[in-house]
Amino acid sequence: RSRRLAARALARGARQGALSTAAAQLPAAADVVVIGGGIIGTSVAYHLAKRGGASVLLLERDQLTSGTTWHAAGLMVTYGSLSETSTEFRKYTKELYSIVLPEETGLDAGFKGVGFVELAATPNPNFNRYAGDVTDRLSEYRRVAAYNRHLGVDVQELSPREVQDLVPLCHIDDVLAGFYVPTDGRVNPVDATAALAKGAKLHGAKIAEGVAVADVETREVVSDGGGRHREVTAVLTGCGRRVEAQKVVNCAGMWARDLGARLGVAVPNQACEHYYLITDTMEGVDPNWPVVEDPENFSYIRPEGDGLMIGLFEGDPAPWGPVPENFSFGEIQPDWDRITPFLEAAMGRVPETLNAGMKKLFCGPESFTPDGAPLLGEAPELRNFYVAAGMNSVGILTGGGVGKLMADWVLDGAPPADVDVTGVNVDRFQPFQATRRYLTPRATETLARVYRTHYPDMQPETSRSARVSPLHATLREQGAVFKDVSGWEGADFYAGDAAAADAYAAARTYTFGRPGCWKAWAAEHDAVRSAAALIDMSFMSKFRVVGADAGKLLNRLCTADVANDTPGITYTQFLNEGGRLEADVTVTRVAGDDFLVVATDTAHRHAEAHLRRHAAAGAYSASVVDVTA
Ligand SMILES: Cc1cc2nc3c(=O)[nH]c(=O)nc-3n(C[C@H](O)[C@H](O)[C@H](O)COP(=O)(O)OP(=O)(O)OC[C@H]3O[C@@H](n4cnc5c(N)ncnc54)[C@H](O)[C@@H]3O)c2cc1C
Repeated sequence: RSRRLAARALARGARQGALSTAAAQLPAAADVVVIGGGIIGTSVAYHLAKRGGASVLLLERDQLTSGTTWHAAGLMVTYGSLSETSTEFRKYTKELYSIVLPEETGLDAGFKGVGFVELAATPNPNFNRYAGDVTDRLSEYRRVAAYNRHLGVDVQELSPREVQDLVPLCHIDDVLAGFYVPTDGRVNPVDATAALAKGAKLHGAKIAEGVAVADVETREVVSDGGGRHREVTAVLTGCGRRVEAQKVVNCAGMWARDLGARLGVAVPNQACEHYYLITDTMEGVDPNWPVVEDPENFSYIRPEGDGLMIGLFEGDPAPWGPVPENFSFGEIQPDWDRITPFLEAAMGRVPETLNAGMKKLFCGPESFTPDGAPLLGEAPELRNFYVAAGMNSVGILTGGGVGKLMADWVLDGAPPADVDVTGVNVDRFQPFQATRRYLTPRATETLARVYRTHYPDMQPETSRSARVSPLHATLREQGAVFKDVSGWEGADFYAGDAAAADAYAAARTYTFGRPGCWKAWAAEHDAVRSAAALIDMSFMSKFRVVGADAGKLLNRLCTADVANDTPGITYTQFLNEGGRLEADVTVTRVAGDDFLVVATDTAHRHAEAHLRRHAAAGAYSASVVDVTA
């Protein structure tokens, strides 16, 4: 309640002060319009304005933070990701909240560097049905720690006793080790948003609250070569105003999918229920204790006031929706039956909590994506329309880095050369992955997996068989055990026959060592080396590039000469103007002006957009047809 009051006070103060809410004061045009005033939209606006050179307008439907941001737990953690991009987001964000914003704006973003400990414990038999070995968590976190140290995060491995020295009420009988980052901690999401908003204003951005974007206006552009694409021209507000825009950034949080869908843009994010409990005052709690994550019990614990906050990423989560348009500072009715076993396990880590009263069980919505990474970048379907959504419950702790990346991407028209955006680019998903049928179960499974052990070959269980090849039944008869390949079913290995494959899948456990299918893989490798193999690659992306200029276009994009008369397949790369790799492809000249381009599954829409955009920009007479399936 106090967070909600603070957020409302922030909005009131903002209204009374410099921030404009009156739709009448909206400018007629802005170079960049940012939709949504949560932590992400505010950070994008701040970084755009700070870089300068473009007029920036942020439009917020209701009040800043009123969607998801106001109720975030505020963990500010740099440990834990095996993505360099995400780890760099986290490091940058921590510095932004703790040093840069307070200095620049005079506002405290509420950062407390109390430290963070990730617990590696033996498997909880009620929850961890995949564990191959009791030390699997330890194996995982030692790997994560090594990688994070390589990226400059100061991770220290602690003994169970050292963990208890930091948090004396912590039960440690099952703890194998703690992974400690002394300078991590927590932040106040409302204060951080306020500081970003003030910084954005100081750098010249305009922020208007109470102004919903009802639609985005687009136009079709036809190039000299006949290629067509759509681009944004303006936003239309709910109060009937039109603001011309060169570029638009969709930071609408859990509303981002529907906003994208109205424009034909696939934004696969799904709101799910997300919980934390706050205890009454507890004896012996020190507000300077570090944040403790206890994944074996699907939970995290940190001081909150004179008590503790116990947050969950439960293994059996629930999707939420449809999201009402007027949902502001809202809560969801908790599902006590579903959540109680997880709460009990979580409270077992600090047994005193079982005797403490409960101040609040909070449930609010947060957006999750099919693979647990955010959706960032320019939409392949619509030029100059950018997306920054689907934060998978790390929107606060990555928000600074996300905002910085997006500002550079929007202003330069391309991501910076030193950031690998492959795993966060919104174009890695296909439109079918944004359908409710595929997305809702898969994104909910993403939440279920946040605190599971992350085995290298772990397979998703939901939304399988969205795409199957014509050979699927044949492969199954031959004993294929399938794995998920961008929504396709790909043969992972052959177990002998269909019954053996089913038995393997039913009894499957995972490991950081050699998987059970090791010998089957070895036999396949032997067959490929010593004889021959037929491999089903239906999941690869395939495009026909046809027309008088098809060869010229491909030779412009590829490193190799692909338009010569030598028969065969050319393995080559699409490079951009900076000489960086855009896609790894093969090109086959099928006939004179008819080429087949094959790219990997995850680069499907990236390669396609790259082809189409260059065909249009260079006025090449060439059409691109997706012939994948
Ligand atoms: C219980 C809980 C605990 C969490 N704990 C943490 C944590 O410890 N650390 C962490 O990093 N993250 C945490 N998160 C996640 C974090 O809160 C989110 O990732 C983050 O707030 C998402 O920010 P956002 O800006 O994308 O979305 P939002 O905050 O929802 O902002 C989107 C904004 O867009 C506006 N909008 C929507 N449609 C329109 C429109 N048409 N026109 C104009 N405006 C529009 C909305 O009003 C809203 O204000 C937690 C989430 C929950 C639910």
